[in-house]
Amino acid sequence: MSGAFAGNRTLNILRKAEGEGYGILTQTCYDANCVLGLVRAAERRRSPAIVNLFPVTLAFGKGPFLQFCLNAAHQASVPIAVNLDHATDPEHLELALGLAEQGIAFDSIMVDASHADTDEENIALARPYVERAAKCGVVVEVELGRLEGGEAGLRMISDAKLTNPDKAETFMKGTGALVLAPSIGNLHGAYLKPPNFRQDILKALHAKFKGEIPLCLHGTDQLPDELFIECIKNGVSKINVNSWGRDPYAKALAEGLQTKSFPDAVEDATEVFAGVCERFFKVFGSEGKA
Ligand SMILES: [Zn+2]
Repeated sequence: MSGAFAGNRTLNILRKAEGEGYGILTQTCYDANCVLGLVRAAERRRSPAIVNLFPVTLAFGKGPFLQFCLNAAHQASVPIAVNLDHATDPEHLELALGLAEQGIAFDSIMVDASHADTDEENIALARPYVERAAKCGVVVEVELGRLEGGEAGLRMISDAKLTNPDKAETFMKGTGALVLAPSIGNLHGAYLKPPNFRQDILKALHAKFKGEIPLCLHGTDQLPDELFIECIKNGVSKINVNSWGRDPYAKALAEGLQTKSFPDAVEDATEVFAGVCERFFKVFGSEGKA
């Protein structure tokens, strides 16, 4: 199946990263400035990267905004892909896949059916979307197990389920997806207690999927650098980051607009966002890899 994805940017970026032992910043972007900031940072540090959009942002900007993101990413001088995160609702999946069929295609989308009660139900929900995405060369990420918490426009989940590595191969074959987001004690939003990640689950998944199915870490708010590094060492290559970039950007923009000209406030806030991205390229080891 992966032959159909030979030119897929997300897969190529992640497989190279996994092979060489570094992580890829997959930074949630809420507007055009964030996209430009991430691309600017990646070019400056010669790092691959992934632009991450939430369904709520896609629903807001639709085809014209996605086309802008694709242009900004694909015209960059370093490899950058565009990913849709946590597509759960049929209307969001329909929007993303409908656009792909018109030629405005994400490089990858996450079909999130992790709210399903069983793996079989998760597979049954995800499979038709995976097949439809494959026809447009769009790679799909799925979640096995279930992460607790919630983020902007995403549903709130209160009953986490850890990923069972023994079931992962059947699950990935069943869905046909090519990127896996495991549940290892990570959660969306703020950690109330220090995170306790099951590195043994990551290691077991990496042993099964090395070179084939990249692993994606969700739920990275407030994580210490050492934990990112440990997860990369144990096989994670795609690292979703949200509030780390979002919050300093929003603060800089809000404050800047009180005292500066509009273009100056935008420029300075975009630089703040780019600075966060640059710090992660260094922590994740992707700096200089593009
Ligand atoms: Zn997530």
